[in-house]
Amino acid sequence: MGLQFPESVKTNWNSYLDFIEPFDEKYAFTLGNTEFDKPISLIVVPWAVALFSYVGWGFLFLPLDFAAPVRERKAIQGRKFQPKKKPEWKDVVKTLKLVLSQFLWMYPLTFFLGYPLITKYLSHDRDVPLSIVNFITASFLYVCCSEVYFFSYHWLMHQKPFYKMCHKLHHEWTAPFALTCLYFDAFEGFLNNGVVAVGPILCGAVFGKFNHMLYFLLYINMGILNVAVHHCGYEIPGDYIPGFALSMAHFHDYHHEVFNKNFGIIGVCDYIFGTYGKYYAAVDKFHSRNKQKQQ
Ligand SMILES: [Zn+2]
Ligand SMILES: [Zn+2]
Repeated sequence: MGLQFPESVKTNWNSYLDFIEPFDEKYAFTLGNTEFDKPISLIVVPWAVALFSYVGWGFLFLPLDFAAPVRERKAIQGRKFQPKKKPEWKDVVKTLKLVLSQFLWMYPLTFFLGYPLITKYLSHDRDVPLSIVNFITASFLYVCCSEVYFFSYHWLMHQKPFYKMCHKLHHEWTAPFALTCLYFDAFEGFLNNGVVAVGPILCGAVFGKFNHMLYFLLYINMGILNVAVHHCGYEIPGDYIPGFALSMAHFHDYHHEVFNKNFGIIGVCDYIFGTYGKYYAAVDKFHSRNKQKQQ
């Protein structure tokens, strides 16, 4: 048996299915050879999870830059990687305009186009795997797939002609803030969805397990939290383990600062391919600057 999540996870998942299935039946349709028999569960729900995750996590970080009582605390100021650069409200408006407009067409279109893969390789069973080992294995596999996928296509996006065509837009922000985490050209945003989808879909295709829809929805939420942390501009407690793992937020902030280093998510691929530049020196500089301030 091993360690298990409580039975209530399965009960709640089944209650959710009882609620959503009549809507799926009502709005099911066929297009070409594809039968869209679960359009609400497999298109609308993942889209809504992505939207609420983006808005929820993105706004949660806003006080760091915009609420004076938070922003001016010494402990918060010391955590900012690029203290001389501060976002303004007009930056927030500009970012939301682009990202939310893409939520109206590009993200629904992505789930619509990805429907054949999602319906073929993801499990929508009532029987949710409750094993904690299963969940940890799935999470590990998803993160590995995301790292390889994101590193590869992100590196490609920095080559000619893709940088000018697509990725330059994301790099308008040399000191990003959390809401800019999905600020991309639409084509690149479309490819970005693969960062969260590649793991669950590959697991389904290769192993026929670690591919439950509930895992996928959770991974969308956690993936967006992760990418929001990556772009928040601050060292977040828990984002690094002293003596073992460096801050992922600092890792990606450095990418925005210097443009052509640190292409991955957790840094493994950059370590293997030597594309981390002077990142470790920058981390040392950041910590010694903070130490001096505290003395
Ligand atoms: Zn980049
Ligand atoms: Zn970025």
